[in-house]
Amino acid sequence: MTPPDSVPIANNMDAFLMPFTANRQFKKNPRLLARAKGVHYWTPEGRRVIDGTAGLWCVNAGHGREEIKAAIAQQLEEMDYAPSFQMGHPKSFELAARHAALLPGDLNHAFYCNSGSEAVDSALKIALAYHRANGQGTRTRFVGRERGYHGVGFGGISVGGMVNNRKWFGAMLPGVDHLPHTHLPQNAFSRGEPEHGGIELANALEGIVGLHDASNIAAVIVEPCAGSTGYLPPPKGYLKRLREICDKHGILLIFDEVITGFGRLGASFAAEKFGVIPDLMTVAKGISNATVPMGGVFVRKHVFEGLMQGPENAVDLFHGYTYSAHPLACAAASAVLDIYKDEALFQRSAELSSYWEEGVHSLKDLPNVTDIRNLGLACGIDLAPEGAVGTRGYKAFVKAFDLGLMMRQSGDALAMSPPLIIEKKQIDEIIDIAGQAIKAVA
Ligand code: PLP
Repeated sequence: MTPPDSVPIANNMDAFLMPFTANRQFKKNPRLLARAKGVHYWTPEGRRVIDGTAGLWCVNAGHGREEIKAAIAQQLEEMDYAPSFQMGHPKSFELAARHAALLPGDLNHAFYCNSGSEAVDSALKIALAYHRANGQGTRTRFVGRERGYHGVGFGGISVGGMVNNRKWFGAMLPGVDHLPHTHLPQNAFSRGEPEHGGIELANALEGIVGLHDASNIAAVIVEPCAGSTGYLPPPKGYLKRLREICDKHGILLIFDEVITGFGRLGASFAAEKFGVIPDLMTVAKGISNATVPMGGVFVRKHVFEGLMQGPENAVDLFHGYTYSAHPLACAAASAVLDIYKDEALFQRSAELSSYWEEGVHSLKDLPNVTDIRNLGLACGIDLAPEGAVGTRGYKAFVKAFDLGLMMRQSGDALAMSPPLIIEKKQIDEIIDIAGQAIKAVA
């Protein structure tokens, strides 16, 4: 049988169960993207849309990069696939060594997977396995945070703190507590890291330790800067204090850097920016510039060595994916590292961040704007709700798209995170359209 025609047409949209989408509403009035280059998308009708969100916070080096395409094509020519279970291929080892060299401190070992969700569940499992291998098998509890997003696996939604992502899915993992979120009213309209509350918010971890005893707690997982719930930068001193408390109690600290990694904050990783080294770090998105799905868990020396204590002929970690370190993903990720280095994109992100900050805070006095937050090359803008939560936010998001800007919406919070190759005049355009959209939904 010949395959059906794959051209999207209005009356064949039914079959695709779209993720995180109001399917019926969308299909009545679809927003389709057909082509992308640089910092732009084009709709099938040829209308240009500026990418204010780097896809889904992932296309950090911009769309359609020739170098990445060439690396993937060459890899496909050489070898399409090779397993990484009791076998290996050169590009995986080369990539891990390159990541180790880029990472701060002794975060110098890499596990690879295919997404941020897999990275998070892998990190939680590595934390459990590490404690067990080190004679501390009672450490099985996890601590996440309210308003955290750690993907959609059962581990990730259990430690995550987004109500809608949790309430549909039953009991999830047992033994999880949540720290309070870091969005405080007294920090409204902060520029960069908010001033207030960092130490007190982190100290809540001591309360959780007091309740369960440290001997039962495996790890704490946080996004250094929460992305999906409206972009919440950490208040000053917060991450450092979390690190201190984890150290005091032998608890592993996991940074979920799926969004903050690879230049978003104007440094390689948030760990570098804040000078706080987690024991494990999860990444995805910018690791491959979203060309081939890829995720990873980077671990510190002591975590890696902790797993290497069994007999030499025994499997060290009973965990992995058919596509762990997929050759195409490794080829793409290596080419992406070249671009980040050759174009100094992390530095560029740092240099542009004050221009970005000025731009986004210029929206402060528009109607219904109740808070604006920024850090690196990203921001969150809260709008006052209009009736049901999310109504005004959704309208603003649709309006912006109609006006030629792709932004993100989470409830009534809008978020933007353009590709790191963005130019100042394109930032001006993003801010201008965002402003028009906010005014239009007043
Ligand atoms: N962790 C964080 C902090 C994220 O922002 C995301 C996705 O946005 C994930 C994990 C999940 O990544 P993925 O959608 O690739 O599974």
